[in-house]
Amino acid sequence: MTSEIQKERSNFLEDIINRDLENNKNQGRVHTRFPPEPNGYLHIGHAKSICLNFGLAAKYGGLCNLRFDDTNPEKEEVEYVESIKQDIQWLGFDWEDRLYYASDYFDDLYDLAVKLIEKGLAYVDDQSAEQISEGRGTPTRPGKESPCRNRTVEENIALFAGMKSGDYQEGTKVLRAKIDMASPNMHLRDPIMYRIRHTPHHRTGDQWCIYPTYDWAHGQSDALEKITHSICTLEFEVHRPLYEWFIEQLELYPSRQYEFARLNLGYTIMSKRKLLQLVEDSVVNGWDDPRMPTISGLRRRGYTPESIRNFCDRIGVARRDGVIDVALLEFSVREDLNARAPRRFGILQPLKLVITNYPEDREEWLPAVNNPEDPDAGTREIPFTKELYIERSDFMEDPPRKFFRLGPGREVRLKYGYIIKCDDFRKDPETGEVTTIFCSYDPATKSGSDTSGKKVKGTLGWVSAAHALDAEIRLYDRLFLDEDPDGHQDKEFKDFLNPKSLEIVTGKVECNFQEVEPLDFFQFERQGYFNIDPDSKTDALVFNRTVTLRDDWARKQRQQ
Ligand code: ATP
Ligand code: MG
Repeated sequence: MTSEIQKERSNFLEDIINRDLENNKNQGRVHTRFPPEPNGYLHIGHAKSICLNFGLAAKYGGLCNLRFDDTNPEKEEVEYVESIKQDIQWLGFDWEDRLYYASDYFDDLYDLAVKLIEKGLAYVDDQSAEQISEGRGTPTRPGKESPCRNRTVEENIALFAGMKSGDYQEGTKVLRAKIDMASPNMHLRDPIMYRIRHTPHHRTGDQWCIYPTYDWAHGQSDALEKITHSICTLEFEVHRPLYEWFIEQLELYPSRQYEFARLNLGYTIMSKRKLLQLVEDSVVNGWDDPRMPTISGLRRRGYTPESIRNFCDRIGVARRDGVIDVALLEFSVREDLNARAPRRFGILQPLKLVITNYPEDREEWLPAVNNPEDPDAGTREIPFTKELYIERSDFMEDPPRKFFRLGPGREVRLKYGYIIKCDDFRKDPETGEVTTIFCSYDPATKSGSDTSGKKVKGTLGWVSAAHALDAEIRLYDRLFLDEDPDGHQDKEFKDFLNPKSLEIVTGKVECNFQEVEPLDFFQFERQGYFNIDPDSKTDALVFNRTVTLRDDWARKQRQQ
């Protein structure tokens, strides 16, 4: 698969920056920012923006600020601020001493708004939200000027001061920029700059009861921080003329906005509002549920920062919207873990296997390779005994010819152990389920010193029954059954939830899991990649399955 996935070479933003540097624009500086609104946890789409903003700054020897866009006191919380900081650091990026909040600029923004009023370019409007919306017109019909539009500068300054001091109720007044009610761009039809909200803010307390809108706060914050390249997603392209209008009228630092296509992932929703709904409705167990596309969910699931950064690198940056296959995200984590994850034996659905000709009290410690991709990883020892567990699906009572695993009369190798032959099996008379299989081993076939010359097609994973540890193993599947759960007119995204997105099994794992820490990752041989969940305890291990070894989604869909 590697050769199919070419890294995108040209990045239009780099072309722009190269040109700017050639022209010595911004005195040769590159200064970006990542501007999250603290109204939820970050998701994989934000990771793309983080990698882009911090990545461009690093590539050009520039700087990247972290700025919380905290202008909406109703939806924002300190918990989100903390999680966002943690996620960015975990991804491997550093804002150093440049942590800012739009709320730090509330005074500056107020003063700039007064300046705009003084220039005759902003006014207080008494119309209701409905009247304002109605008066704005439609893309094909020009808007109507507000009766308040021609208030004098003095009147506007006094009214705006009154708004700030709390003289008015919510919804009774707004401050609007005075631009052009007939502009073909709706965003220039006297956009709102301030609203009254008698709501305390998580940082400024009850100091303010007017709050700036995104369009007013964002560009001015960029300019105050002397951001050179303000990178955002395509839906803001139509806001760009307004972004530039404010900066030009106020003669601020000429920050420029550039747009790129947001990341959309198949079988995933990416809106924080909808992800919050999943959390609030307990569809998932919190923002860091391993099924969530949040950075904290991916982390808990076993994704590494490297795999997410590589993924973001691979998908590249474009100006055209598209949907990325989740298989690419899974490929990125497999690739990283294949190189780094220690191998272990882990059995998800254990089936007892007795080696009838192996002495009862014997115990052999066999060397097993920790990582064939990494010679430095060395070996460990695993115990071989008379009673073992293998994977239930590795045995069939009546297997087809091409089933290269175990069945009556068939031979396989137990990896790092011996070749065994299945002689018999026992079933539960009530359920008909196979409970034990009986095999004989050939002592001349010991791995590493096999003198038998025997060849077998199948190799199985196994653990010693006496030594194996019980483990809770959480197996995840996609949270949605539809590739575009958000893209249906007649249905809601929640109608496409996968009822089998989490299956919990009690498995058996080999004894080499001493002193593991949450998030430690492993490959269970022939099964996939797993990590230690934070719920795990020394005497009660809990694993998450990050991904299977190969993409088996297509195969499972066909079977349904
Ligand atoms: P959502 O729509 O998921 O709530 P948002 O855009 O409202 O996201 P912000 O906190 O405002 O969330 O986003 C911070 C930055 O991340 C913005 O610059 C935004 O453009 C970018 N971003 C958000 N979603 C994506 C995405 N899917 N792909 C790339 N960048 C994104
Ligand atoms: Mg936003």
